[in-house]
Amino acid sequence: MASGYELARRYRRLGHAVIAATLLGGLVLTAASQKLAGDRALEAVRASAGETLALQQETLTGILEKYRLLPPLLSRRADIVSVFERPWAGDNRSTARDKAIEIAGFSGAKDVAFADAEGRIFASARGIFDNSSVHESTLFEAANQGRLGRETMALNENERAYVFASAVRLDNQSKGVIAVYVRFDQIEATWSLSTNPIVVTGADGIIFLGNREDWQLRRLKSGADPILAPVNVAGGVYDLPGGGRVVEASRNLPLLNWTLHVLADHTPVDAARRNAIIIAVLAAALAGIVAWFLFQRRAALEQRLRRDRASALRLERLVRDRTAELSASNFSLEREVEVRTEAEAQLRRTQSELIQAAKLAALGQMSATLSHEYNQPLAAIRTYADNAGQLLQRGQPEAAQDTLRRISGLVDRMSELSRTLLAFARKPGTTVYDVQLGPVVGEALMLVGPRAKRAGVTIRRGDLDGSLTVRAGRVRLTQVVVNLVNNAIDALSGIGSDRVTREPQITIGAKRDGTTTRLIVEDNGPGIAEARPDQLFEPFYSTKGVGEGIGIGLSIVYSIVRDFGGTIDVGVSRAGGALFVINLVSADADSATVLEEAGE
Ligand code: ADP
Repeated sequence: MASGYELARRYRRLGHAVIAATLLGGLVLTAASQKLAGDRALEAVRASAGETLALQQETLTGILEKYRLLPPLLSRRADIVSVFERPWAGDNRSTARDKAIEIAGFSGAKDVAFADAEGRIFASARGIFDNSSVHESTLFEAANQGRLGRETMALNENERAYVFASAVRLDNQSKGVIAVYVRFDQIEATWSLSTNPIVVTGADGIIFLGNREDWQLRRLKSGADPILAPVNVAGGVYDLPGGGRVVEASRNLPLLNWTLHVLADHTPVDAARRNAIIIAVLAAALAGIVAWFLFQRRAALEQRLRRDRASALRLERLVRDRTAELSASNFSLEREVEVRTEAEAQLRRTQSELIQAAKLAALGQMSATLSHEYNQPLAAIRTYADNAGQLLQRGQPEAAQDTLRRISGLVDRMSELSRTLLAFARKPGTTVYDVQLGPVVGEALMLVGPRAKRAGVTIRRGDLDGSLTVRAGRVRLTQVVVNLVNNAIDALSGIGSDRVTREPQITIGAKRDGTTTRLIVEDNGPGIAEARPDQLFEPFYSTKGVGEGIGIGLSIVYSIVRDFGGTIDVGVSRAGGALFVINLVSADADSATVLEEAGE
């Protein structure tokens, strides 16, 4: 695709070409049309001149014809022939003169003259030729040879006449000649009406008749000093001496051996040419303007098309790029999804492996703990049983009974442990409902009260609004409180640590904090031994010795609270002991209902 600059340059070049073509076309058109129009106008002028020529020829020949037959007719008249018998006789001359006057009178001829056999004029009507002779002329010769004689004659410098002559014969002998002189005044008078020059030239090319007086007896167009200056001889175009241009049309009059010329005005040809030039120039200019306009429109269209093409290409490229980007991001997303799916699968695998490992670990820990828990009383029972046997053998039944009571106590403890394990293993209820905290804490204290008393631990009800209600299960929540208080009693009693607390004290409180209600159990014991927070709630994690704890209390608490949708926070109490905060979901206090927890 051409660049914008190249396109502009191309169009500038094309524009110059259009201008040049218009100029050239205009020139050719102007030349051709002026030639054509000029030729056609010339033709028209020539045609019109031709018509004039034909008309004037008719006029001329018509006038001359009238006189042509006069001499032959007169030469046959007896009274005319008689005057030729004795031409020079005294009375004959006057008779002859009368005849001549008569003939001139009725024919309208300029003059009528009678000449003897030698050519001497013995009588004439007007006396114009009295002193001249015609015998020297070819006219006379022609008349004597029996033909019609004819001749143009100059009467004086300005006047010319045409002569028709015929011989008068008597006894087959030429007695003389009758000559009729015709003047051209009448013809010239007719022609003077025409604005175009009309002239007649003789065989010698000299004008002897015409409607231009100053041209008389001059050469028209050939020979020395002609009137017309040739411009286009083939076209018959000549320049006039005083300025102006004419178109010549000529015709030979064979009978007279004359040439009739009509010089038509050339102006219409010039005008036609001028008009043709003007029209051609205007047409060329118009064509140029139209071409320029079309060219400009074409250029603008091309420019617009180019712009459209460029923007379409840009758009296409943009779409392509965007598509490529999208495909790339799609691909990377697919890759990411694959990686994540893979990672998730890996995580699941690891998780299940961990769970498996944890289960195994828990099982191992549980087996170790339980075998420890059960082996110790079993070993003691075995020892006590042996002792009891020996005591019975020695005959000490009271001591043996005491030993058997110890065995029974140990069996009770093992049963208790078994029950605890069963409770741990049993799937607890999962339903939650609104539970008031007051009764739950009361019930728990009733259960753990005797043990606390024995251990000398004081249990205080701190900030406890008994009407606070949470979403929980009554029995399970009681178990949570019991477990926490039991742990606290253990800690305060030095179980799991080697410190005995003075004025051991447990405080149970609760407060509502919006949608959460916190149940707090704290003591002033030694506090939580160093342990990971999550480790504390793992099953079978315990710092206590054999027979003192198997590490499932907090694990049970954790799973119960989780079932309630709550959480547990562990910390240090204000007295420096352990602090357990159970965060439970608050129930709407007004609509609180305490339900019996069936099956818990
Ligand atoms: P057990 O009581 O059988 O050891 P628990 O799961 O109830 O098992 O308790 C786990 C451990 O948490 C206890 O061994 C003890 O170290 C610690 N513990 C729990 N309650 C307290 C407390 N009130 N003060 C100090 N340590 C505590």
